[in-house]
This record gives sequence, C-alpha cells and structure tokens, in this order.
Amino acid sequence: MPPAPVDDLVQPFQIDLSGLRGRLVRLGPLLDEILTRHAYPEPVAAMLGEAIALAAALSGALKYDGVFTLQTKGDGPIRLLVADVTSDGAVRGYAQFDEAKLAEVLAQGEVKGSVPRLLGAGYLAFTVDQGEHTDRYQGIVELQGASLAECAHHYFRQSEQVEAGLKVAVARVADAGGVPRWRAGSLMVQRLPPEGAAWRRETADEGWRRAVILMSSSTSAELIDPALSPETLLFRLFHEDGVRVHRRHELAARCRCSRERVETVLRMLPADEIAAMKVDGRVIVTCQFCSAPYGFDESEIDALVDR
Ligand SMILES: [Zn+2]
Repeated sequence: MPPAPVDDLVQPFQIDLSGLRGRLVRLGPLLDEILTRHAYPEPVAAMLGEAIALAAALSGALKYDGVFTLQTKGDGPIRLLVADVTSDGAVRGYAQFDEAKLAEVLAQGEVKGSVPRLLGAGYLAFTVDQGEHTDRYQGIVELQGASLAECAHHYFRQSEQVEAGLKVAVARVADAGGVPRWRAGSLMVQRLPPEGAAWRRETADEGWRRAVILMSSSTSAELIDPALSPETLLFRLFHEDGVRVHRRHELAARCRCSRERVETVLRMLPADEIAAMKVDGRVIVTCQFCSAPYGFDESEIDALVDR
C-alpha cells in the first residue's frame, strides 16, 4: 500500500476528556504552487501563506457547502489578502501590495510575518458563501496582533460561543533536491462551553487548559516537517489525554475561474468601461488568483455588450 499523503490535507481530531475538537493542517505542494506562481516578494508570499494556512484551519471548523473566504484589508504595504477554501478542498489566494510602501518598510529591518508593519490598521473578515438564496455568514475583527493567527484569536476571544487556540507556521524549506519550497502548517483546537455537573466542567476546563499549553508547545518546525506525519505529531502532543483522529480531507490548489464567469462580469460593466480596457482592439482579463488570461476580440466584446 502506498504511504498515506502527509501534505495538503486537513487532519481533524478530538480529545473526549476535555470536549475538544481540533484540526491539523499541512500544506506542501499546494502552497508552493500558489506562492511560486504569484512570485510576490518574500514577506508578501509568507503573509499570503499564513492567510491560506489559517483559512484551511478555520474552514475545517465549519460545516458548509460552498466557499469559505478569509480576507484582510489594511492601510499597510499589503492592501489586501484573499484566501479561499471550498468545501470540496479547492484552495486559492492572492495579495495586493504597494511596492513603494513595501520597500520603505523593508528598509527598516526584519518584517516577516508582522501584521502591524505589513498589513497596518484594518480588518480580518471571514465569509461563508453557500450560493444564491442562502445566508452569507460573516465574522469580522480588527487587525490586532502580531500575526494573522493572533488576529483570528482575538476574534474568538470576543466571541462567546467558541473558545479556540491557534498556531500557524510558514517557511521556505529546501526539498530533497535542495530546491526551496514553501510549506505551512496550522493547528487549531476549539471547544464549546462545557455543560453538565461541576466535576465534569472542572475536568473539561483542566483538559482544555492543558490542550492549549500542549498546542502552544508545538514548534514551527514540527508543524511544517514533511517527515513528521500528522498522526505522529498529534500523538506526540496530546497522547496523555487520548487523542482520536478522524478521516482526513485532502486539499489542492485549484482555481474556480472560467471564461463564462469572466463574461458574466464583463456583461455587468458599462460599455465605456469595457472600451477603456481595450488594447489593440482586444480585452484581456487576467484572473487575480491564478493569473489565467481570458482574451476577447472585437466581435466577442460586441456580442457581450449588445444585450
Ligand atoms: Zn483563476
């Protein structure tokens, strides 16, 4: 039997003693493909990597059929980060940044992973879109914290329904051939407020506190190490409290763009705006997520505009 994949997956687990649910996310080829294709400056790529690893962990906490999107908007060098994860495991993301502002901040020293310096003041939002005629669920919180995981943590501290702990690691690691590849890992534990008899609540509270400490004790190297299987890491951290793993969900770098979707967007634009997009009589729309180009010639544009 081939060995089970250790990358590009969400590994859910639970610890019954403390009424705790969690998931470990491992991202390898998926993340390297997305970040390498964009070819952003290193601090921007690392920040988008963190957003994608965080989105995968948070989306795994929800039951949904559609698209989970994590988005940040800020007044720092990185204006926008978008990462989305569909319920069938398609992952994509992109960033928008200001080169001059970024150079200015980089000149002041090490900034990798720093939300205040790279993203500035702004917000972090989560959206679940389950298609037309359904409610869009949205959570929003100010960018407060050194890392995106801390910002998400801040969100959970404000929320009274769920207690959660989060850890995210992103790095470029040389593969077997010595080529640097992007990798990421995230670990999230959460629980509902305990119910029942006082002794039960106490046991659960104690177990929860222990689980958060154990989660924090995991290192960034452990979270992204491809040689360390998800079960081995979870067992290493939580074995004393009896951790159980569930079926893994696989993830893959996959965009949902299509010519049809681009046409729908163009159809909604005023004719003069489309005319302004023309270069040598052609309109080329490039997908921000995957950089796929969609070209329309004069007659195709006319067909879209004459409706
Ligand atoms: Zn695309």
